[in-house]
Amino acid sequence: MKYPGDISDPAQQDWFDRMSSKYGVTRIITGDGKSNPCIALHGPGPADKRCKDCALCYYNQFSKRYYKCELRGSTRGPATDHRANWPTCGKFQPQPAQPV
Ligand code: SF4
Repeated sequence: MKYPGDISDPAQQDWFDRMSSKYGVTRIITGDGKSNPCIALHGPGPADKRCKDCALCYYNQFSKRYYKCELRGSTRGPATDHRANWPTCGKFQPQPAQPV
């Protein structure tokens, strides 16, 4: 299965290509909607953080916020919706420090 959405970052596209050939596209982009599918792939991340604290978490603003994880890419639909309060995975990246 070819990835159905867009990944703008070439490094993330490379990661996606490698992981999808290893695990299959469906497992990476969909999960079960109730738990973070990235934990199965990468193991758990810091227990005191949530995905909303990760630099790879972003959202698209429409009538409400639709959170996404850059590692999962985006199908522009609910298959890749991501919960901001999900526990983190092993690919957690801290947000860059804000200048004071
Ligand atoms: S911790 Fe970061 S990389 Fe891992 S699933 Fe959450 S947002 Fe994605």
